[in-house]
Amino acid sequence: MNEVRNYKEKVLYNSFVLDDMCKLGHENVYFCNDKETGLKAIIAIHNTVLGPSLGGVRMWNYNNEQEALYDVLRLSRGMTYKASISGLNLGGGKGVIIGDQREKNDKMMEQFGLFVNQLGGRYITAEDVGVSPVDMINVKKNTDYVTGIPESMGGSGDPSPMTAYGVYMGIKASAKFKWGTDNLKGKTIMIQGIGKVGENLIMCLQKEEAILYISDINEDRIVDIANKYNIKNFHIGEDIYKYDTDIYCPCALGATLNTNNIKMLECSIVAGAANNQLEDENKHSCQLMNKGILYAPDFLINSGGLINVYSEIAKYDHNESKIRTEKIFDTTLKILSQSEEKNISSYQAALYLAEKRILDKKNS
Ligand code: NAD
Repeated sequence: MNEVRNYKEKVLYNSFVLDDMCKLGHENVYFCNDKETGLKAIIAIHNTVLGPSLGGVRMWNYNNEQEALYDVLRLSRGMTYKASISGLNLGGGKGVIIGDQREKNDKMMEQFGLFVNQLGGRYITAEDVGVSPVDMINVKKNTDYVTGIPESMGGSGDPSPMTAYGVYMGIKASAKFKWGTDNLKGKTIMIQGIGKVGENLIMCLQKEEAILYISDINEDRIVDIANKYNIKNFHIGEDIYKYDTDIYCPCALGATLNTNNIKMLECSIVAGAANNQLEDENKHSCQLMNKGILYAPDFLINSGGLINVYSEIAKYDHNESKIRTEKIFDTTLKILSQSEEKNISSYQAALYLAEKRILDKKNS
């Protein structure tokens, strides 16, 4: 009886997958399971009008399958807009591996490579949260549809430094728009999540003599980083919205900003690396705008890493990646001006630009 009920629930649940795909506009979602390695993964392809879908694979200990699905659907959609607004000939896709990062092993990543290969190039993978460039070497054993390979093997290496550099460009452009100067000396900046991107961002911002506040849920990590960069203001945990800083920089996971904590925010600018940092993009970008807080759209300012890994496909060098990433400064200014002129949120202005390029290509 129970089995029958569970089966029915699953059938019902699967119909919700298609429903979500329709709402968000996805082309395909693939569920992957390998008993031998314990790999459980979902690959979502959002849109391939501009080119093959590209996006990293994340490994996270999701509470349940639905949470993982929700994440991969939102993340892959974000990749579509990121590629489009950055002028890359790529579509949006993403992978998630369900599980504790401590259980990750070489064979599991090799198997993920096999699944990616079966898609024949419609999805190209890279690293993301919980996955490293070394894991990409294992993925590459079974597929060529992988980027972010170490430089020693002819790849573009870890994309995080370029992501951080792009976010830094986005922060500077936001400061210029808000205060008339992009000089960050003396500005107080809270960075939430000091992982690969967060640490690289610290290096950029310390050169500018900004006053940094850092936070992470991983105590060992935050203490190490605070010591390494001599940062006195560090916080362990998530309750950071009470801090009154000039800029709030979310660099942890997605959906950290919601109706309740936006009410608490006292900053002038929100600009960070985390994908899908707003729980509900339309609603919360408007809430920020109505509070007078400038929001730099995440999929625009965190595109440096994508620009970097795309160099492996489009065959340009590190210097060209850096030049392309620096353009984030001008694009951010353009989006913020359009948002002001049209009295729409910066997210809506960025989305309009990203969708327009896809539509133009579709109609050409
Ligand atoms: P990472 O896994 O190296 O670091 C994430 C850090 O955030 C970890 O230290 C983790 O402990 C911390 N964290 C998680 N939840 C937290 C919370 N609620 N509060 C405080 N800290 C928390 O990941 P990363 O590569 O640095 O990426 C960070 C974000 O930027 C992610 O959202 C990722 O999708 C996005 N992003 C990364 C890249 C890239 O090149 N790595 C590119 C584009 C976007």
